[in-house]
Formats: sequence, C-alpha cells, structure tokens
Amino acid sequence: MIDVQQLRLYKTGKVRDIYEMDNDKLVLSHSDRISAFDIVLTDEKTGKNAIPDKGSVLARLSRYFFEKAENAGIKTHFLEMPKGQENIIVVKTTDVFPVEFIMRHYLYGSYYNAFRNGQMELPPGSERVLAGKLSEPVFTPTTKAEKGEHDVLLPYFRSMEEGKEILYRIGDMLTESCDKAGMILCDFKIELGYDKDGSLIVIDELGTPDACRFWPRESYRTGQRVPSKDKQIVRDYLVDIGYKKAVDDAKSKGLQPPSPPELPSWLVEKVRETYIEIFESLTGERF
Ligand code: 5GP
Repeated sequence: MIDVQQLRLYKTGKVRDIYEMDNDKLVLSHSDRISAFDIVLTDEKTGKNAIPDKGSVLARLSRYFFEKAENAGIKTHFLEMPKGQENIIVVKTTDVFPVEFIMRHYLYGSYYNAFRNGQMELPPGSERVLAGKLSEPVFTPTTKAEKGEHDVLLPYFRSMEEGKEILYRIGDMLTESCDKAGMILCDFKIELGYDKDGSLIVIDELGTPDACRFWPRESYRTGQRVPSKDKQIVRDYLVDIGYKKAVDDAKSKGLQPPSPPELPSWLVEKVRETYIEIFESLTGERF
C-alpha cells in the first residue's frame, strides 16, 4: 500500500500527480480530472467536471499496454501497480525528452486543420477529406518545451530517429489491439524519456482514450466527424458550444482563456461509460 500523503509531491500535471518515492522511482497518481485544449476542466475542490473512474481506467490501460510493450521488447518506465490501488503506478525516474511523438493514420484533428490552412502536405495517394485515410503513417512531433526553451531540443536532435522507431513499433502494437476490438486507431501520442542507462524508453501513459483517437469500425465514414470513443467527445462538445473559439480568441489577444463551462451530467456519464467500454474492449478484462 502506497500512501501518497507521505511522499513529496514532485509535480501536479493536468491529469496525473507525480510523487517521489526514492531516487529512481516515481509514483503516478491518476486523478479523475479531464483536460481539453491544454485547459484543465475539472475543479477538484468542488468536484465540478470530474469524470468518475477515469483515473483507474487510465492507470489500468497504461499498465496493460506498458506490460504488452515490455513483452514485445519495447522498454517502458512501468514498474508496478500496487495491489488494490488501481489509479496508481510506480515508474522509473527518467530524464524527459521534451517532444510529443504523434503518429497519424487518418486526416483528423489538428492535422486536418493544418492541412486546410495550407500548412501541411499529405503523403501522395492520401484521401484529402476529413477522416480520410493517409497512404502511409505520418509522424507529427510537437514540442513540450515552453516558450523560449526551444534550444533545449538541440542536444536531443539525434534521438528523434530513435524515438520515431519506437513510435512505429508502438503504433503496430496499438493497431493490432484495436483491430481485434473492431476499432480503428486514428492517431495517438506517446512520450519518451532517458532511463539511467541512457536508453530512450516509453513514459507517461500508453494506449489511453486521453492520448489516442479510437473509432468504431462500423461508424467510420469519410467527409464527416467520426463518433470517437475517447476524449474527442469532450473536445467536440466544447467546439459545439463555442468554448474552443472563445479560448482561441483570448489566446490570439494574449489574454487568459475564459474559465471552463460546467459539463452537463449526460456528457460526464457518456465519457465515463466510453472510457470503461474502451478499457474492456481493448484489454478483454472487466473493469
Ligand atoms: P491533435 O494534434 O490532432 O489534436 O492530436 C493528435 C493525437 O495526439 C490525438 O490522439 C490526441 O489525443 C493526442 N494528443 C495530442 N496532444 C496531446 C496532449 O497534450 N495530451 C494528450 N494526452 N494527448 C495528446
């Protein structure tokens, strides 16, 4: 049993709280917070916009895929999930590589927006419509560095190729699991860090509905939004009620984003049910 209250809080992330266990171990405690467009929507003091069971789904799915990756010879930071504490995992400390490794199989999300604005080309032979199939997987890394920290990336430059190889192997593993569950893996993100031997390993979360877009095969159509079984449900809602536009307008004027709206109870329940359904269909385990 790990009592996180007894540990030093190292960092509060958008969704995970990170505690120091000893020199080379961290404890990741997965909360029921949800974020979208880099804004935490949940107020933990009041419980507003918390998604019940979300922390356990994320921790258990990450554990499942970290173990699967290890079995396939892909190194990860996962060490253990303490018995009876299903929202906690113990991991190796790493030196975080400040890049989000994103792989896409379909034209969607920010890649679709960038394509429409003429900022991105597609591999030849791709379907040039919303949700169109890309003729080959596309790697779109984004930096995790804050403004003014971009030079931090230079020493890591050579690791991009190695990271990309890991991303492709993880892509194959996740696609295989999605295939078996009757789902399409639209795109996903992984994060990487260096362990104490200097190896690049998978960290953070893996194969969760926070970091992947999962599409039920039977509802896939091109040229329109696909009813995604993941955090996209919340993003779509925030777009539809105009909150995303208000955030973008504020950002473009250098202002603070408006405070998040209260999510309706049907949406909270829909997200909860969807996350549990994804856990069960990908792992074959009961939640
Ligand atoms: P997009 O760039 O289209 O918004 O996202 C591409 C993919 O990467 C999606 O599967 C999305 O869930 C994932 N992704 C992008 N940025 C983040 C992030 O900051 N956090 C998480 N958890 N996933 C992200």
